[in-house]
Amino acid sequence: MTVLVFGSLNLDLVAYADELPSLGQTVTGKKLLRFPGGKGLNQAIAARRSGSEVLMVGCLGKDVEGDFLNQILVDEKIDSRFISRQQIQTGIAVIEVSKEAENRILIIPGANALVKYEEQYLKLPTQPKVVLAQLETPITEVEEFIVNAHKSGVITILNPAPIQKLSPMLISACDHLIVNETEASFLTGAAVEKLSKSQAQEISQQLLAQGAKRVVVTLGDQGSLYADEQREIYTPAFKVSPVDTTAAGDAFCGAYATALANGSSIEYCLKFATAAGAIAATRAGAVPSLPTRDEILSMLTSLE
Ligand code: ADP
Repeated sequence: MTVLVFGSLNLDLVAYADELPSLGQTVTGKKLLRFPGGKGLNQAIAARRSGSEVLMVGCLGKDVEGDFLNQILVDEKIDSRFISRQQIQTGIAVIEVSKEAENRILIIPGANALVKYEEQYLKLPTQPKVVLAQLETPITEVEEFIVNAHKSGVITILNPAPIQKLSPMLISACDHLIVNETEASFLTGAAVEKLSKSQAQEISQQLLAQGAKRVVVTLGDQGSLYADEQREIYTPAFKVSPVDTTAAGDAFCGAYATALANGSSIEYCLKFATAAGAIAATRAGAVPSLPTRDEILSMLTSLE
C-alpha cells in the first residue's frame, strides 16, 4: 500500500502577539514557534500515519530549515529518496497570530519553486498505488506529474490548493479531485464562502463535465459530497468539538489516499477520511493534529 506525494515542504514560523502590527508599526510579540508545514508534507504525514508507506517528491534548501524538515521525514518514516537539496532557501511560511486567533501569512516558496517532474518517480520497482499532489509547487510540473501518473495507470488525486486555474488536460487526468468550499467555488466561478449541499452538487457536476472522473467537495463541519458519473454520496461530518480546523483538509486527503491505496470502497474511503478530518479539527496545529490509523479506526468503531 504505497502513496507517492508530490508537493511542498515549509517551515512554519508562527509569531504570537496580542495585536498584529499595522503597516509601519512595531509591536512586542509573545513567542515564536516553528513547525513543519506545507500542504505536501502535511498530506504525506497524514497518509503515513493513517497506514500507508509514503514516498515524497519535493525540494529542500541546503540550510538548517531543510535539515529540520528532513529530520521530520526521517522521524515519520517517510521515504525521502526523491527529496532533493538545492542551493536555495527552504520554503518558509511566516504566520502572525493575534489573541483573537486572526492570522496573517506570508509564504516564501524557496525550494518548493524548484520541484520538477522526473520520469524516475513513476519507474519504481514497485509502482505506487496512488499519487497525491497539491498546488504549492509549480502547476506545470504538477500537471506533467499527474498526467504521466494517470497514463501509467496509477490512481491520481489532486487537491488543487492554493487554487489556480486548472487546464482541461490536468482536470481530466484526475481520478479524484478533492476541493474545499473556496476551491470549488473558484473553479466554477460560484464565489460562495459557505456552500449548501445543493450548491456542492451543482459544482461537482460542473467539474465532472469539465472532465474530472470523481469529485469530492469537502464542506467543513457539514461533511463532504462525492460525485462521479453514476452516483453521489453525501457523508456527514462526525460531531466533534472543534479546537482548530487547520489541516482538517490535509488529514482528509492523506487518509483518503491511504484508504484508496488499500483498495477500499469509495464509501469507506470517504468515512475513513471524514474521521481523520474530524480528529484533526479537535486538535491544535497542523502536523501535531494529524491522526494515526488506530485513532481513525477507533473513532469509526465508536460510532458504529
Ligand atoms: P479545508 O481544511 O481544506 O478547508 P474542510 O474544512 O472542508 O477542508 O475539512 C475537510 C474535512 O474535515 C471535512 O469534509 C470534514 O469531514 C472534516 N471536518 C472539518 N471541519 C470539521 C468540524 N468542525 N467538525 C467535524 N469534521 C470536520
